[in-house]
Amino acid sequence: MNKTLRKAIIAGNWKMNKTRPEAKALITDLIGLVKDADCGVVICVPYTNLETALELTAGTNIEVGAENCHWAKSGAFTGEISADMLAEMGVGYVVIGHSERRQYFGETDLTVNQRVRAALDAGLKVILCVGELEAQREFGITEEIVGMQTKVALQGVSEQELKRIIIAYEPVWAIGTGKTATSAQANEVNHYIRTVVAKLYNTAAADALTIQYGGSMNAGNADELLAQEDVDGGLIGGASLKAADFATIVKAASK
Ligand code: PEP
Repeated sequence: MNKTLRKAIIAGNWKMNKTRPEAKALITDLIGLVKDADCGVVICVPYTNLETALELTAGTNIEVGAENCHWAKSGAFTGEISADMLAEMGVGYVVIGHSERRQYFGETDLTVNQRVRAALDAGLKVILCVGELEAQREFGITEEIVGMQTKVALQGVSEQELKRIIIAYEPVWAIGTGKTATSAQANEVNHYIRTVVAKLYNTAAADALTIQYGGSMNAGNADELLAQEDVDGGLIGGASLKAADFATIVKAASK
C-alpha cells in the first residue's frame, strides 16, 4: 500500500450468504471491531441484506455495497436490480464483473462496461473485478487478459469518474480455492494494471487509483499481501463472513 498516494480499502464480498438475522449479528460484531480502522471498510452484501446493513451501519465507518447491478435504468429484466434502485436506497458501492458473474451468469467485458457506466451514472462507486483463469496464467497471457478487461470496462469513463472506481485484481484460480497469489504475483499484476490505467488516462490518475487484490486473502496472509506497494487493500470473500477474521484484515490495512 502507498497511503500517501491513494486510499487503502478493505471490502467484503458476502456472495450468496447470510439471512437477515445472520447479517445483523455479523454487522453488529463488526462495527465494534473495525471502528478505529485507518482504511476504508466496505461490506458488499446480498440485495436482501442491503436495508439491514444500511440501517445498522448508519453513523459508523462501514460503507455498504451491492454485489451487482443491471445496466438499464428500468424495464423488462425480471430478477435484475438497477443502479438507480441501489443509489436511491443509499447504497454507496457496487461490485461489477466478479468472476462468478462472468463464469456462471454469462457476464462479458462488454456487459461489465455497460454496468460500470450505469453505476457511475447513478452516482455509485464501483469495485471493478478483473482477473485471469489458471490456464491463461499458464499460457503466459495474464497481462493481455487483465489489460483487455480493464480497457473494455473503462470505455467511456472520464478521468473525473475514475475517482469513483476501485479495481480489484482477482486471479480466478485464487477465488474461494484457498490458493493465494504470492505477494509478488499480486503486486506485479496490480502494478501492470496501474500502467494500463496510466496509458488510458495519465500517471497522476493511475497513482491515485485504489487497486485491491482478491483471492483467498485471509487473516494469516493479509499482512504480507498488503505490504506490497501496489496492493491497496483487498476484496475479501470467505474471510469476510467471520467478523474477527475480517477485522484482522482491516487491522493489517490500517498499519
Ligand atoms: C471474492 O469473492 O471476491 C473472493 C476474493 O473470494 P475469496 O476471498 O473467498 O477467495
